[in-house]
Amino acid sequence: MARDLTNKKHLFFDLDDTLWDFEKNSGHVLEQLFLEFDLADKLKTDFSTFHSTYKKTNLQLWIEYSKKEINKEYLRNHRFNLAFKQFNYDNYNENLLITEHYLERGPKGKHLKDGCIDTLEYLNKNYHLHIITNGFKEVQAIKIDGCGLRDYFKNIIISEEHNLSKPEEKIFRLAETFADAKTEECVMIGDNFESDIVGALNAGWEAIYYTEQKPESYSGRHILNLTDLKKLF
Ligand SMILES: [Mg+2]
Repeated sequence: MARDLTNKKHLFFDLDDTLWDFEKNSGHVLEQLFLEFDLADKLKTDFSTFHSTYKKTNLQLWIEYSKKEINKEYLRNHRFNLAFKQFNYDNYNENLLITEHYLERGPKGKHLKDGCIDTLEYLNKNYHLHIITNGFKEVQAIKIDGCGLRDYFKNIIISEEHNLSKPEEKIFRLAETFADAKTEECVMIGDNFESDIVGALNAGWEAIYYTEQKPESYSGRHILNLTDLKKLF
């Protein structure tokens, strides 16, 4: 059962694939790099197969990173080669070069999720808005500034800066102190079920799951696009 949304004052947003269209922005750069480095020939596959393999590899590394089993350098410096190896291609140096280009270009993407600015403008009138993002400081800052998001948010909490990440309860408690908010006033809005939704609910917050397909196994509150938030608040 979804809890009541009255008395909510603070809305905390996830960044990647909630506000900033990571899938589109990242996919665009990966497709460029796939062409530039002639990966079709080297991996003997097409872009969409490579892209889905890369995403699975990257997701797994982020899970390990959030459990502190690997560090940032390992995640960055191995993810392309770990994906390559699944196509029987192993080239660590080329992997580093692609990483460098990817990190340079990726955060500069300008695609936001549909209705993002319009919804923030609307919510900003009556609520305090904040971001809690699992990510690296310099990368997330480029995304936030490049798309004109910064001015909408009172606090931007980036996991790397605090050595805490969602779904750890401590990052939600920390966010409350930054926002000067009470637990019962807080709502988390995000697309990652584990990090954003389970994390926030465990911390005693309300949570709104942003998912473009109606969830089959979750009966809690959800939205199919950002503009749905205007009906809730
Ligand atoms: Mg996300």
